[in-house]
Amino acid sequence: MVTRSAEETEAAGAGLATRLRAGDVVLVSGDLGAGKTTFVRGAARALGFDGRVTSPTFTIGQVYSGSDVEIAHLDFYRAPQPDLAILDDYLTPARVGFVEWPPAHGTPAERLAARVVIEHAGDDRRRITIE
Ligand code: ADP
Ligand code: MG
Repeated sequence: MVTRSAEETEAAGAGLATRLRAGDVVLVSGDLGAGKTTFVRGAARALGFDGRVTSPTFTIGQVYSGSDVEIAHLDFYRAPQPDLAILDDYLTPARVGFVEWPPAHGTPAERLAARVVIEHAGDDRRRITIE
């Protein structure tokens, strides 16, 4: 799909969130400024979190409280070769997890609910692929 604003990308995240349950992990890829955090914000809001959702750049991860689940939000931009124990620590079976700049390995396949790729498509357009 192609979105034309940050709000539309948030709505795309919210749409995916309706299909997620505790234990699911979503990998979110794309260049800097593509809209990964924007997508996660929409998903986290839809899961019942109403605080700030920003890229956890100086910490690797943040945990938000949703209405029924906790939400783990990780960003490995500054840690491309992380200690994979961090994934285990944050991505517990009780949480829905979102991972920006996901490490190549480290997320167990059975936990992987979706891979999201966001690409710049001119101005405020972004192409979002969810598989
Ligand atoms: P990332 O986490 O991929 O680095 P962010 O979500 O933090 O990206 O930032 C995306 C930026 O692009 C925001 O400033 C947002 O307002 C802007 N933007 C413009 N158009 C869109 C769009 N269609 N989808 C998402 N973000 C958009
Ligand atoms: Mg980000």
